[in-house]
Amino acid sequence: MDIRFPYSPAEVAKVRTVQFGILSPDEIRQMSVVQIEHGETMMGGKPKPAGLSDPRLGTIDRKMKCETCTASMAECPGHFGHLELAKPMFHIGFMKTVLSIMRCVCFNCSKILVDEEDHKFKQALKIKNPKNRLKKILDACKNKQKCEGGDEINVQSQETEEPGKKSRGGCGAQQPKLSIDGMKMVAEYKSQRKKSDDQEQLPEPVERKQTLTAERVLSVLKRISDEDCQLLGLNPKYARPDWMILQVLPIPPPPDDLTHQLAMIIRHNENLRRQERNGSPAHIISEFAQLLQFHIATYFDNELPGLPRATQRSGRPIKSICSRLKAKEGRIRGNLMGKRVDFSARTVITPDPTINIDELGVPWSIALNLTYPETVTPYNIERLKELVEYGPHPPPGKTGAKYIIRDDGQRLDLRYLKKSSDNHLELGYKARFCVLFGSIWSLDVVPLLNFCLLVAGGAPFE
Ligand SMILES: [Zn+2]
Ligand SMILES: [Zn+2]
Repeated sequence: MDIRFPYSPAEVAKVRTVQFGILSPDEIRQMSVVQIEHGETMMGGKPKPAGLSDPRLGTIDRKMKCETCTASMAECPGHFGHLELAKPMFHIGFMKTVLSIMRCVCFNCSKILVDEEDHKFKQALKIKNPKNRLKKILDACKNKQKCEGGDEINVQSQETEEPGKKSRGGCGAQQPKLSIDGMKMVAEYKSQRKKSDDQEQLPEPVERKQTLTAERVLSVLKRISDEDCQLLGLNPKYARPDWMILQVLPIPPPPDDLTHQLAMIIRHNENLRRQERNGSPAHIISEFAQLLQFHIATYFDNELPGLPRATQRSGRPIKSICSRLKAKEGRIRGNLMGKRVDFSARTVITPDPTINIDELGVPWSIALNLTYPETVTPYNIERLKELVEYGPHPPPGKTGAKYIIRDDGQRLDLRYLKKSSDNHLELGYKARFCVLFGSIWSLDVVPLLNFCLLVAGGAPFE
């Protein structure tokens, strides 16, 4: 047993489901133990309150206790804080999804652009897989330049709607063409139509190309109804589209090599807030917002194409969250999949023209070590006796037993058998024999499953 986790009489809970989702700003605030406001970590030799090393986040000092859970450095798991962003920011990991969603809904009223009567839309709604459905809906919305319904519907009623059919009740607004440019989203109004009457205070094509702030995008996403979210393939309970825009940043507990980058983010966040408070001109504020956006983006991923790397003062590129997860040395491939455990091995497995299609070839030395238990019964005792006779080093093509497990649980290793009389079998005993091809590989899934587990690095089961 792991000495870090002493025995507990509590019942072990079974994991029944795992639900993935996006943290909402409120969830981030709720799980936070402190609102972080300062980029500095220390003040007068002590952790600065509301700084990146606030003692409520956990302790990195052997002599100090965590102010949240009162545990010591070894026991405290660390607790998250949060940073309120001066302005909403794009999350670099969600840029493409946000763009897809934005292209599906009206820029003005946030309703899905296509009508229920649209053929492509109808087809799309039949798709159960949410990701594929979004793709199809996106395809159906591609050429919509107007939000159907609303006041302007009479203009194009002949081509879009037959009388009596219900409309989605859109607003009639003209739709810009949206694209991503680095960390910016750009809206472009394609054709400059002569506007007859124009009730919306939409940024009508005065400026044909404009950069959208994350704030603007957020306001569109926020207005998407829960029903439309479902249609677009997002469960509003777990992943509202507006949560894909950062409003609150979770702050991980120290010590963390990301702390330096977080300090930069907090500083730029403060600068932006100050500029806003001072009523600086819009282009200045936008510049400061861009700077904050850059540091937040590189905090998540510092290898973004077309962007300069964020570096430490020494010039060394900063490690991002992304680089911790991906590639061979990352959390997934390096720590989870490649986890070393007891009772595991890895080997080559192969098909072979000389063995059956439902069999698997395993190197001799591995096969001799991989055993499978079988309880001794009147029906198999003769066969198992033979296996015991062959022992742990059976002749080629044959299988042999490696252990005898007596009914009291005592395990006899046949490699170190002293007296030959010790190897007798009784009903109820178990013989663990080597799993060779041609024996039970083909019928029994357990060894095969074990093998997959072994290849994946998990613990074997019986
Ligand atoms: Zn703690
Ligand atoms: Zn609309």
